[in-house]
Amino acid sequence: MRKLVLATRNPGKIREFARLLSEFASDIEVLGLEEFPDMPDVEETGDSFEENSLLKASAVAEFTKLPSLADDSGLCVNALNGDPGIFSARFAGEHGNDQANNEKLLQELRDKSDRSAQFICVVTLVVPTESGSKVIIESGRIEGTIVEASRGDSGFGYDPLFQPIGSNLTFGEFPHGEKDKISHRGQALRKIAPRISEAL
Ligand code: IMP
Repeated sequence: MRKLVLATRNPGKIREFARLLSEFASDIEVLGLEEFPDMPDVEETGDSFEENSLLKASAVAEFTKLPSLADDSGLCVNALNGDPGIFSARFAGEHGNDQANNEKLLQELRDKSDRSAQFICVVTLVVPTESGSKVIIESGRIEGTIVEASRGDSGFGYDPLFQPIGSNLTFGEFPHGEKDKISHRGQALRKIAPRISEAL
């Protein structure tokens, strides 16, 4: 089995990554960061999804000496000039507090008529090589609207508030596995998966 470390501790993302990757390559063993408890947290100091995903994948590849795949993703809301964007996970202050983030988003949109938004995901693979490293980047995006009140409890993050164009369900209401078929992360992973298989 070839090994690939996913540069995330977010269980929602690990589930989505592992499910999607298994569709493309059954001989890749996917490891999560919980297998490397001494790996220090990587500061997301970049100004873009691209920079942050490269920062995470590079740090994990350097620490583990294994190929690493990172994503950086977020929700960009047009009426909020693209916010929360790269700050999606910590929009309300505390990193990863989905409920507080969702409440803040509803609050900020309460007077806005334009509720259009998109989820963006950038994935980066870093493969350590003898002469340095090989880097591959892909991305995905999905357009939708922010509903007036949270609906559904599958998925994670802003899923219960995000209704993709063409659907009357939020991602939080999507049946198991359906989100992957259209999501920003699904699109990005479907683009990078064959390239991962080639590069490892
Ligand atoms: P990251 O871990 O820095 O990429 O932060 C991503 C954050 O964006 C998550 O914590 C969520 O708040 C939000 N996000 C990204 N992708 C999704 C998704 O598929 N559903 C819901 N929220 C998402």
